[in-house]
Amino acid sequence: MEIKVVQNILKANDALAAANRKQFRDKGVFVIDLMSSPGAGKTTLLEKTAERLAGEIAFGVIEGDLATAADAERIGAYQIPVLQINTGKGCHLDANQVQNALQYFDLDSLDLLFIENVGNLVCPAEFDLGQHTKVLLLSTPEGDDKPDKYPVMFRQCPTVIINKVDLTPYVPFNLDKVRASIRRIQPEGRILELSCQTGQGLDAWIELVRQETKRFKAELQASAS
Ligand code: MG
Ligand code: ZN
Repeated sequence: MEIKVVQNILKANDALAAANRKQFRDKGVFVIDLMSSPGAGKTTLLEKTAERLAGEIAFGVIEGDLATAADAERIGAYQIPVLQINTGKGCHLDANQVQNALQYFDLDSLDLLFIENVGNLVCPAEFDLGQHTKVLLLSTPEGDDKPDKYPVMFRQCPTVIINKVDLTPYVPFNLDKVRASIRRIQPEGRILELSCQTGQGLDAWIELVRQETKRFKAELQASAS
């Protein structure tokens, strides 16, 4: 019986996620669900993205955390539309929370929306939010065993960012092992290696965001004509 209940919740979530996806498409907004463990650097990556892209691509951010508006305040400092969702005890965002958040954005004026999920490598993988793609951050201090321990999450994310590569001399993290693990779980996936602190590798991330947003817009135009 318990399994049936869980399946029903996921089914309801999937229906709401589909509605979100349709709304994003209608408004021409490309949506990226950004996930990681707590402390891997999601908000910092978004700050760096804002520094580089704010004048070029109109984007907004939904922040998911159990408590505080700390991350929304950090993003808001860049004059970017941002909304904080506090989930209380909830360990992931769901499609309904995202739907409710959308009324606070002028979607017509946005080309891109980042959803920073609650820091957690487990259940955010189960809840479709209506995003177009998922990006996973893994930071080197977390250890090189994470892809093998959390394969469901890694399998769902076509882009994996290894962050804090500047710390590899100080932490036990074998980059070759991690690359091999990720490729084994998702052979088609893309791996970016960067450091938000030193700026190393950030160019590739910025270019990826730029190209993926452009490609989404082009696909929309092609299907409309
Ligand atoms: Mg954060
Ligand atoms: Zn959860």
